[in-house]
Amino acid sequence: MDYGILYLCPTPIGNLEDITLRVLKILKEVDIIAAEDTRQTLKLLNHFDIKKPLTSYHEHNKKTKGAKLIEELKKGKSIALVTDAGTPAISDPGEDLVKLCIEEDIKVVPLPGPTAAITALVASGLDTSSFVFEGFLPTKSKERKIILNRILKEERTIILYEAPHRLKETLHELKSYVADRKVVIARELTKIHEEFIRGTVDEVLVKLGDEIKGEIVLIIEGAQKQQVEEKPEILVQKYLEGGMNKKEAIKRAAKELGIPKSQMYKLIIGKK
Ligand code: SAM
Repeated sequence: MDYGILYLCPTPIGNLEDITLRVLKILKEVDIIAAEDTRQTLKLLNHFDIKKPLTSYHEHNKKTKGAKLIEELKKGKSIALVTDAGTPAISDPGEDLVKLCIEEDIKVVPLPGPTAAITALVASGLDTSSFVFEGFLPTKSKERKIILNRILKEERTIILYEAPHRLKETLHELKSYVADRKVVIARELTKIHEEFIRGTVDEVLVKLGDEIKGEIVLIIEGAQKQQVEEKPEILVQKYLEGGMNKKEAIKRAAKELGIPKSQMYKLIIGKK
């Protein structure tokens, strides 16, 4: 018997009209719908008059339930995976089920649809040509510091998910490193109170009221790209090509960049 298919079905992140015709069709056709929160999904299914066997698949049962869903797929049953909102496998347990299916040679069909990260990014006004998605920051302060330190060196636009009660704390942490960096708070996307708060970290902290409610995507402008010509190794190469020997080229580049010769030697020789 042929194996069934796992369909990844995105659901609205607020506005129910954002469900696609194809997702509705698949939800009507599959044998089982696996949902992160069955009560939440039942409301959605009722709204669209879809009646299907519903089973839970979430962070706390994903090991045992994952194995059961794989058994069903192997029996030829088709399954639609939906999470609370948005695209399954983006900051939710969908990822683990996809990995299991791939290990077991079960076909996975992703359906396009809403995801908060991209919805926020496209209206942020920040660079969309290259970006990174970091999901939620860790809650433990030591781990947060390590991650923040790393991502603030990132040159691409950074997309984070953040809980409303932690947003101010995160912005204050950002302020201590990069108060002038542009950030965008995308709040309650696709809902009645959808809002974008844009500005530098400092400005956004002033604009934010005392109580922040709703769902939040935080977008941070990437670090300034180092000018290509300003990169030590490129400058040294330029002088080497111009006919200088290595010692002269390093000395000249160090002078131009205003850094000590010894540091320049370390930068260049250390790379070899
Ligand atoms: N899989 C989902 C997706 O594709 O966006 C994300 C799941 S993650 C558990 C939930 C987080 O997504 C929320 O805490 C919030 O940061 C963000 N989010 C979801 N819906 C949102 C909305 N309508 N507006 C802003 N952020 C939202």
